[in-house]
Amino acid sequence: MSKVLDAYLQENLKELRDQGLYNEIDPVEGPNGPIIKIKGKDLINLSSNNYLGLATDEDLKKLAIAATQKYGVGAGAVRTINGTLDIHLKLEQKLAEFKGTEAAISYQSGFNCNMAAISAVMTKQDAILSDELNHASIIDGCRLSGAKIIRINHQDMDDLRAKAKAAKESGQYGKLMYITDGVFSMDGDIAKLPEIVEIAKEFDLITYVDDAHGSGVTGLGKGTVKHFGLEKEIDFQIGTLSKAIGVVGGYVAGTKNLIDWLKVRSRPFLFSTALPAGDVAAIMGALDKIMESTELHDKLWGNGRYLKDGLQKLGFDIGVSETPITPCIIGEEKLTQQFSARLSEEGVYAKSIVFPTVAKGSGRVRNMPTAAHTKEMLDDALAIYEKVGKELGVIS
Ligand code: PMP
Repeated sequence: MSKVLDAYLQENLKELRDQGLYNEIDPVEGPNGPIIKIKGKDLINLSSNNYLGLATDEDLKKLAIAATQKYGVGAGAVRTINGTLDIHLKLEQKLAEFKGTEAAISYQSGFNCNMAAISAVMTKQDAILSDELNHASIIDGCRLSGAKIIRINHQDMDDLRAKAKAAKESGQYGKLMYITDGVFSMDGDIAKLPEIVEIAKEFDLITYVDDAHGSGVTGLGKGTVKHFGLEKEIDFQIGTLSKAIGVVGGYVAGTKNLIDWLKVRSRPFLFSTALPAGDVAAIMGALDKIMESTELHDKLWGNGRYLKDGLQKLGFDIGVSETPITPCIIGEEKLTQQFSARLSEEGVYAKSIVFPTVAKGSGRVRNMPTAAHTKEMLDDALAIYEKVGKELGVIS
């Protein structure tokens, strides 16, 4: 064991623990449904991204088992050797249909999809304008590309226009790209895509939308680009298969040329083993359900509205969310963590999100209602919110 490494780890772990920034992980002892079991106790789960409840869907489980029986548990190789199964290609056709594009490519996760796609196209001669609240995988993908990164104030279209103009007129860069989340996961606000497309046209920006939290949720399930009818305008439609879709993986949907390029230039496609068949089959089943009916979507939005109304009536600040994501803004970091811990003791699992994930002093407990929650579960959660809120002086 290296003494240098050990000293480094000890010192830094201690610092994190002293600052209350070390994230202890509680294992879930069963399915990640609307009720989860942690340390033997059942809790109302308001912390998963399983928006439509599909992660535990019985039909999808059957599809996964059947495909596993047919193909085995692993794809056996990277996509470009012999890891491409016929069902990977069927999945990619379905993803293109889902997103209204010519083609699509799938990856093993949403995280490595962003690492793959950004760095396959952008280079150190280029510049990327990026919303300051974009997800960590976008930030890492931008860094990996070597392009100049220009931060844009959150959803500030004047800032985007000014910085795009300056970048273009400087003549310093080759390609320019603008990247935004479709739905921002901390506040639940939706990217202003119509204005973004206008600015992109004016300054020749490539447009890149990571709709991890929008797919299955906005656009009657088809996502934020569809919500605005901009399928022909956005160059990169990114999504994860791990949130509303309920399984695992990521994808890019776009033109045939873009997808052909990613197949020869994106490194996780070339050098990391393909998604297992069981997952692929479950994902296809999930996409079929979302495309065939808005029932789950409608339940999700109904539950989102119900929880928001309930929290607001109790006097909580629920921020600016335009989607079912429901932040409950507490403020100070220690109080936010205490609030979340008390909720959990009382029977609600809703994680605290504090600096540096969100700005200092804007700590929040983030609630993610899903289509699988019943009204009774949400009523129970609201009663616990009321109790803890009064006890800690957050509401009167
Ligand atoms: N992009 C965004 C906007 C996300 O919120 C996430 C997940 N937190 C990811 C990408 C990564 O997705 P995955 O969990 O599928 O790797």
